[in-house]
Amino acid sequence: DPNWEFLAMIKEYRSGLEYRPLTSSDPISNHQICVCVRKRPMNRKEVNKKDVDVLTVPNRENVIVHEPKLKVDLTKYLENQNFRFDYAFDENATNEMVYRYTAKPLVECIFEGGMATCFAYGQTGSGKTHTMGGDFATKGQQDCAKGIYCLAARDVFKLLHTKYKKSELKVSSSFFEIYSGKVFDLLNKKAKLRVLEDHKQQVQVVGIKEEPIDNADDVLRLIQHGNLVRTSGQTSANQHSSRSHAVFQIILRRKNTNKLFGKFSLIDLAGNERGADTSSSDRQTRMEGAEINKSLLALKEVIRALNRKGAHQPFRASKLTQVLRDSFIGDNSRTCMIAMISPGMSCCEHTLNTLRYADRVK
Ligand code: ADP
Ligand code: MG
Repeated sequence: DPNWEFLAMIKEYRSGLEYRPLTSSDPISNHQICVCVRKRPMNRKEVNKKDVDVLTVPNRENVIVHEPKLKVDLTKYLENQNFRFDYAFDENATNEMVYRYTAKPLVECIFEGGMATCFAYGQTGSGKTHTMGGDFATKGQQDCAKGIYCLAARDVFKLLHTKYKKSELKVSSSFFEIYSGKVFDLLNKKAKLRVLEDHKQQVQVVGIKEEPIDNADDVLRLIQHGNLVRTSGQTSANQHSSRSHAVFQIILRRKNTNKLFGKFSLIDLAGNERGADTSSSDRQTRMEGAEINKSLLALKEVIRALNRKGAHQPFRASKLTQVLRDSFIGDNSRTCMIAMISPGMSCCEHTLNTLRYADRVK
């Protein structure tokens, strides 16, 4: 087995580390931009193929990639690359735990009239949909109820009924996907939607369906329905979802005027490895790859510009950033990015790309 010596090296390195994973007593960040990383566990397929876990999360904010290298004299050695984020979740973290430090603080923000976005970023198979709770086809209700979409909805209603008891607010949801630069309504038979921008740069998705919701169970039903619509007629559900961005929104409006009060957008992004498909021999694949590349780059620039007042924000550079524009502008906007990473050595290159992207955003 060619991997055994790397495994031994990694084990030895790890044994010298003092572990301290994130616990629920750690303080919650209130930065405008929060960037986190989540490592998923090795799966059975990887274990069977004798893939090696090359990631270490030694404490609540660092992740180390142990990259096998070859020296000139053909002996092998380990290169450790250390990344630091607001929070780092190891393979033992639950969705509930990830939620607590990422999306939960943003739920409170929308009740103060704020706009919030939470992105799941990473390569296909790294755990984006698992974290968001959008995988109805294979996982079903039990697991989706534990995803961030549903946990956030649960807290929206909790806050609405307790803290904002006499509130004049009502809750609704929309769910759409962006595929190859086009917007499709998942709550309305995948209708293709037009995006308009007026002279004040106000962006409008024309005719998008906004479904009223009364409790977290409604959200589960919407997700299930939207997911079915999203993947119907597709040869492989995962193939398709890896090439499109899914956007689920929880919207607060004033009961009397219907005026927008706050909005939370939760986005399951296209697999970032797809952005590299630009040299594929298949034209369709190449175009999709270019589009994904463009949107992920625009997203990075837009988030980076939030930190630098007055910097140019290239909203128009992609449909994704264009439709999310109103969530980024304004004083009371907050963003969270969760970078998902796969532990295997076979994924090392994509993992490093994901970590570098997330590092640029923070
Ligand atoms: P992505 O949406 O990024 O392509 P998925 O969320 O579909 O990836 O995850 C791929 C597989 O790995 C799924 O079967 C999922 O259930 C599993 N998985 C992902 N993250 C975890 C985790 N933290 N714990 C257990 N299983 C996970
Ligand atoms: Mg997915």
